[in-house]
Amino acid sequence: MKYALLDRGDRLSRELSEQFHSLAAARGLTPDDNSPDLVLSIGGDGTLLQAFHRFKDRVREVSFVGVHTGHLGFYADWQKDELQELVEFIATKEPRRVSYPLIQVDIVTDAVTSSYLALNEFTLKSVDGTLVAGLNINDSPFEMFRGDGIVISTPSGSTGYNKSLGGAIIHPSIDALQIAELASINNRVYRTLGSSIVLPKHHHCDIVPDPEEQLNIGIDHLVLPMTGVRSIICRVAEPKVTFARYRPYPFWNRVREGFIGSDPR
Ligand code: NAD
Repeated sequence: MKYALLDRGDRLSRELSEQFHSLAAARGLTPDDNSPDLVLSIGGDGTLLQAFHRFKDRVREVSFVGVHTGHLGFYADWQKDELQELVEFIATKEPRRVSYPLIQVDIVTDAVTSSYLALNEFTLKSVDGTLVAGLNINDSPFEMFRGDGIVISTPSGSTGYNKSLGGAIIHPSIDALQIAELASINNRVYRTLGSSIVLPKHHHCDIVPDPEEQLNIGIDHLVLPMTGVRSIICRVAEPKVTFARYRPYPFWNRVREGFIGSDPR
């Protein structure tokens, strides 16, 4: 078993990383940053997003495990005092592997088309404030958006930014993407649906901004300033991200514990 480990970089995460490495060495696990089977993140959900982007080119080969230094996260389901148990499981147990959908984002400029994978969401905002862009669904014009921005999330990302925008929470066993609006302006010229839209795997949407507009494109925690964008095509990606589950932690339990508390009564 070859593993790679990425931590948040703060003192506690670094200490836990060292602790993990010595426990892992004692159980015969091999650190390997180039071709790991298992990628661990120690920090929070943001650290797991970073780990995903570090190893996205090997997304078909690796499984991810997240350790949280604070409360349990949406991707980080082990806690800081459970490292010994986790290492023991990794050394002795075949995990259940669960795969969640990703979004493929193709950004088309005159010169090039660049493709990205997002684990949580893609966001589009204008640097100048108001974003104006057409939204096509399956190559047909659907609406003309004007407002603060557009957020397109994966099912596992639906509990992140999307939820703050009033989007629905989607179970990650459903191959879909969700388009949510960020403060849309609605009048006779610019008219949007006003509610979020869920597209199935075989559909795609295409955002058509003014190529002169300076955009901030977000892929999870990463922000890419861009101009000259002709269109942005979003679809459910072909590869999925895989998580190694050494013990069950169902998605709806995460949602309940994340937003309601462990005792809902
Ligand atoms: P971060 O690590 O501080 O994350 C911000 C918060 O989002 C944390 O509390 C984290 O636990 C939570 N989070 C991340 N992914 C989640 C998910 N799938 N479900 C539920 N909560 C989740 O900051 P970062 O590293 O920049 O994280 C980027 C993420 O933060 C984005 O992908 C986005 O989902 C989220 N975000 C949320 C808002 C908002 O709710 N208004 C705004 C910006 C970004």
